[in-house]
Amino acid sequence: MYEIPFLRPNLVKKDRLLSYFEKIEASRIYSNYGPLNHLFETRVIAQMFGGLGAAVTVHNATIGLMLAISQSKRPRGKYAVMPSFTFAATPLAAEWCGLEPYFLDIEPDDWQMNRAQLEETVERLGEQIAVVVPYATFGSAIDLSIYDKLLQEGIPVVIDAAASFGTTVAEDAAQFGKGFGGAVVFSFHATKTFGVGEGGLVYSADQNLIQRIRRAGNFGFSSSRESVMLGLNSKISEYTAAIALATLEGFQAVQERRKTIIGYYRRELQQQDLLLRGWSAQKMQGQVPLQFFSLLSPDSPGNREVIQRLASHSIEARTYFSPACHQQKQFQSYPRSDLQVTERIADRIVSLPLWEEMNEATVGRIVKVLGSITEENAV
Ligand SMILES: *Cc1c(COP(=O)(O)O)cnc(C)c1O
Repeated sequence: MYEIPFLRPNLVKKDRLLSYFEKIEASRIYSNYGPLNHLFETRVIAQMFGGLGAAVTVHNATIGLMLAISQSKRPRGKYAVMPSFTFAATPLAAEWCGLEPYFLDIEPDDWQMNRAQLEETVERLGEQIAVVVPYATFGSAIDLSIYDKLLQEGIPVVIDAAASFGTTVAEDAAQFGKGFGGAVVFSFHATKTFGVGEGGLVYSADQNLIQRIRRAGNFGFSSSRESVMLGLNSKISEYTAAIALATLEGFQAVQERRKTIIGYYRRELQQQDLLLRGWSAQKMQGQVPLQFFSLLSPDSPGNREVIQRLASHSIEARTYFSPACHQQKQFQSYPRSDLQVTERIADRIVSLPLWEEMNEATVGRIVKVLGSITEENAV
């Protein structure tokens, strides 16, 4: 046991679920896009997406990615173009759709899919591209104008926005993804900022796309319960919908709390001069209520040693996403561009604890250990 664990998920408490559970007992509807699920989807669109577009819940983001890719991909395409610096679920979802991941590098500052490589790859692979799957890295928003353009050219885009539920973008503080014509996939896993246990959501401004995903997620059934398309079962139960509704009610406070802790990290990094001593942070877009806090260690020592040093101070840290996807056995044989930045970041990435009861002293203790590592190395 660590004194400071990496995550301490804090899902909504039972008192806030009771009134919803009573509704389930009264309706005796337990699944199949029931009344609580409908209420949740309606509230999400109204409250977070300003009434624009449509959304369907899914059992988890991996299934959401599979359905979104399956319902978006060009039938003759072969590749799902994506960054290697993402979670294994992204290339796995492409594989389940019969596609080959095609890995691109990331930008050195914001860790988002490399824009020049994307342009070059779209040009070179042409019709062989079935879908482009950018990842909104660690919850940050991304500039969607590039992907709007791809959609206009007829290239489908599915955004892995697993960690971005709650991320808002400047102008009108709208949820990231609002108005996007491709699919945007969010995760509600217990470890994410909006955690319900297992769950997720697919959003799009394209109501037809969401309608197809909803149908595919219910065995591909037509209204006469005939299976008319490649389907599976991706539905959440009404109990999960109840948790999601209660989570939405308290979500503002969770977002604020996380932003406060992120503020502690920023202040401590500055006060202890870490950014002048070779450490660096991700350039973020939008207001991001992070799931955990990511930092790049100096070239030496590498992140494995940093993790060990933190552990020796009873602090648990991780290295998301190291190994990167192209370095994992399941994905090693897939085509890829030059992945220099990904490999360099995979050697340096450190994912630091973030949970809602953390205070400034806890953050200070973590950053102090990081500072002591660089000091020793400088000697
Ligand atoms: C968490 C995560 C997923 C998977 O989400 P699940 O809901 O657990 O399936 C996919 N992609 C990324 C980038 C993630 O961070």
